[in-house]
Amino acid sequence: MPRTFTIAVFEGDGIGPEIMAPTVALVRDVARRAGSFSLEFQPVPAGAGHYRETGESLPAASLDTARAADAILLSAMGLPEVRYPDGTEISPQIELRMKLGLFAGVRPVFVQPGQDVPLKSPRVTDIDFVIVRESTEGLFASHGKGTVDGDREARETLVITRATSEKLFDFAFRLARRRKAAGRGKGLVHCVDKANVFQAFAFFRKVFRERAAGFPDIRAEAAYVDAVALSMVRNPWDLDVLVTENMFGDILSDLGAGLMGSLGLAPSADIGERHAVFQPCHGSAPDIAGRGVANPMAMILSAAMMLDWLGHERGNGEMVALGEALRRAVSDVLADGRVLTADLGGTAGTDAVAAAVGAALRAPV
Ligand code: ATP
Ligand code: MG
Repeated sequence: MPRTFTIAVFEGDGIGPEIMAPTVALVRDVARRAGSFSLEFQPVPAGAGHYRETGESLPAASLDTARAADAILLSAMGLPEVRYPDGTEISPQIELRMKLGLFAGVRPVFVQPGQDVPLKSPRVTDIDFVIVRESTEGLFASHGKGTVDGDREARETLVITRATSEKLFDFAFRLARRRKAAGRGKGLVHCVDKANVFQAFAFFRKVFRERAAGFPDIRAEAAYVDAVALSMVRNPWDLDVLVTENMFGDILSDLGAGLMGSLGLAPSADIGERHAVFQPCHGSAPDIAGRGVANPMAMILSAAMMLDWLGHERGNGEMVALGEALRRAVSDVLADGRVLTADLGGTAGTDAVAAAVGAALRAPV
């Protein structure tokens, strides 16, 4: 009996619906080839457009659907002209992260042949590493509500807890193990911190060392964040899994996206103990919305990450393999170079790129 998994789908704002529709169609196509599972997609309303119409950016029913789903696919939410009364941007994805306890922000950084990237080295296509960013505490623990003493000084608090750090490090080590098994990784995890200056980071590193003992097959190294920033530019091909605090992860993730050349290619995941959200790194790109020219690849690669995660979580090897097939199909279209969107120097539209990925998926290998 094939097992049915439900996927909650936030199609979002701006280019969100344009990249989500062909991605869901592709994943449906992939799932149809599967004998051991089937997927059911449940669209859930949320975002800036929804807020403008109803006054709610993440309705309780949408949160319930997301909570009940096996995984969550999200495109991008938020529009510059739609804001909460306090002036902040509409960002239900942050609410989801907090409410569902998504403590690990996962950002793969990779370069494919033919990609125009800022680093000029014959080794650029060897770049293939992952940043795991703690996403619920660290320097973001006060949620922007630091203390300001009149005009004299301002303070923020940095919070590192043992409970979250243990889960985070275990996740990073398991990820390194999976990457190694898949022939992609080096079996190496770097704890990225500033343990020479801050007690909070000395504690972070101490917990890292403790958890590393449970993964003797994986090399565990600790490094200072400034040195890692340098490595990401000098020898990024030597990296495998980087695990770090929220603020450092925020900064290094953008550096990683910069190494990849295009935002339209960067997928991400926010993962907790039971729930996970998969979404592109880019935003809703209102400047190009409605024209059918957005690059769907980051969205498609996020869906591939979803199949990989869900397959591993539920012990479904076929789902893992199909996620890998989807990833490879994107890679083939990039290497071929004939059907690309404008951000990659091409002239093709969103649907043409998705169709090319679909064709690569069906092509015999
Ligand atoms: P956010 O604030 O939501 O993180 P942002 O303001 O940093 O987002 P994006 O919405 O990601 O910015 O857009 C940044 C630039 O990248 C824009 O010029 C946008 O058109 C372009 N861009 C983003 N995503 C894509 C995509 N999928 N395809 C093509 N161009 C994109
Ligand atoms: Mg923006």
